[in-house]
Amino acid sequence: MSNETIDISIIAPLYNEEQVFSLLIERLTAVINKCGFSCEVILVNDGSSDATDRLVEEQCKKDPRFTGVLLSRNHGHQLAVTAGLSYVRGKKGAMIIDGDLQDPPELITDFYKILNDGYDVIYAVRKNRKESMLKKMAYKSYYRFQKSISSFSIPIDSGDFSMISRRVVDIMNDMPEQSRYLRGMRAWVGFRQKAFVYERDERHAGETKYSWSKLFQLAFNGIFNFSDFPIKIITRMGFITVLVSLIFFGYNLYRKLFYNDVPQGFTATILTIILFCGVQMISLGIIGEYVLRIYNQVRNRPLFVVDKVIQEGKEKTE
Ligand code: UDP
Ligand code: MG
Repeated sequence: MSNETIDISIIAPLYNEEQVFSLLIERLTAVINKCGFSCEVILVNDGSSDATDRLVEEQCKKDPRFTGVLLSRNHGHQLAVTAGLSYVRGKKGAMIIDGDLQDPPELITDFYKILNDGYDVIYAVRKNRKESMLKKMAYKSYYRFQKSISSFSIPIDSGDFSMISRRVVDIMNDMPEQSRYLRGMRAWVGFRQKAFVYERDERHAGETKYSWSKLFQLAFNGIFNFSDFPIKIITRMGFITVLVSLIFFGYNLYRKLFYNDVPQGFTATILTIILFCGVQMISLGIIGEYVLRIYNQVRNRPLFVVDKVIQEGKEKTE
């Protein structure tokens, strides 16, 4: 399978997905057999501790249409997809799916049609979520908040499930940012983008690999990497605080000068101190988030470390 003959590369990140693996391969194989254009599948093993790495190796040695990228340790979903993107050989572009079959790979033919109509990004938008009430609410409010503060339009309720053209793959591979929020980066690129509404399936087997803390990290990246709002809110809080304290100051001065009765104020003093300690700590934290991102960026470490690549049925030495 040479580079020239591949149209689309399908990227699936896998972290401890041994229970889903055989069905995933079955469905992907069926899809690439009958879709009518040429596909390769890039399976990224994100440092799994179960049998996923062995399964990926076996599959890629058996079927040369599968490429295996085995990372040196768990790097997280966004970096696993980033690693996959850097191995894309598809000359038309790439499709990104989750490895747990929540994103039906069969939609590739619909996406491909839209790509051929001249769109550069086809992003899937979830009609229904099959997660817990709490998660649904958290997602819903997060996406809306994120949209309202971001400096350009990031679509609501769309995850990483998408098809992107070759030029978008190249641009994203050239984006050097260390903390990666792929759905934001994809929207940032621009060109013609189209939503594709779909029904998100339930995870086929196993548990979600996104803990609440990983979700928060992702959400933070979405907010801090794509908006100046947090830093601006500090300035606004500062102005409001000064305004309120000036009113308070004027009132007390007036009472002191004309009535000589300054209120007792112990509680008010303590509450004010606590409140503004909190405000200052939050403000420092917000500045810290930006500083941390600058630090990560200037340290300029490689985004991921690859242990092994299996391509064309053979282990490739880097
Ligand atoms: N994943 C990964 N590395 C991680 C966490 C997740 O490669 O550190 C993969 C996982 O195997 C799955 C996809 O990313 O294929 C989405 O993860 P998951 O299904 O756990 O997230 P959810 O759908 O619950 O948001
Ligand atoms: Mg999932």
